[in-house]
Amino acid sequence: MNRENYDLTMQRIAARSQGKRLLLHSCCAPCSSYCLEELARSFSTTVLFYNPNLDTREEYDRRKAEQIRYLRETGLADFLDCDYEPEAFREAAKGLEREKEGGARCAVCFRLRLERTAREAAARGYDFFATTLTLSPLKNAERINRIGFEIETACGVSYLPSDFKKRGGYLRSVELSKLYGLYRQNYCGCAFSKTRTDP
Ligand code: SF4
Repeated sequence: MNRENYDLTMQRIAARSQGKRLLLHSCCAPCSSYCLEELARSFSTTVLFYNPNLDTREEYDRRKAEQIRYLRETGLADFLDCDYEPEAFREAAKGLEREKEGGARCAVCFRLRLERTAREAAARGYDFFATTLTLSPLKNAERINRIGFEIETACGVSYLPSDFKKRGGYLRSVELSKLYGLYRQNYCGCAFSKTRTDP
């Protein structure tokens, strides 16, 4: 079966969407660095920092502060804040605590963050919503995009699919992180992911 090249799909949509408004969910500054470099060529982008999956308030504040600093230093996008809502993640992940990374818990985690992004995008009149999550080599872009399209149908705002790891996106994000001295955490975000290195 031929899998869709979501990076190519994104490029095609971007080419006909100059100046359109995009709300980009970002998991952290390092992942957003390459994504924004790409998206800023076409879209007027705002970053939404909605990450209730993060295991502590300290980690949340640290990642958010780095996100804001990166945007201030590059001017690549505006910033839209959200409250830290760990109870939303705890509720969504209930019963899935023992799942392996990449399993069912991650699917509900993706959905939680993308749904909030789509709702904000719809309420604020954005043309598209998207996520940085497809940058990580440890995350399945196909699965993330499938969830994005389901939410598009439910929320009535267009989902911009992506696979930011294609065309060397992940390596470029590492380079940019070094260049800007960004904090690169060594785990995905929830308490259950602390034994893994992602991104
Ligand atoms: S490993 Fe990452 S994507 Fe999966 S549930 Fe935890 S924070 Fe979410």
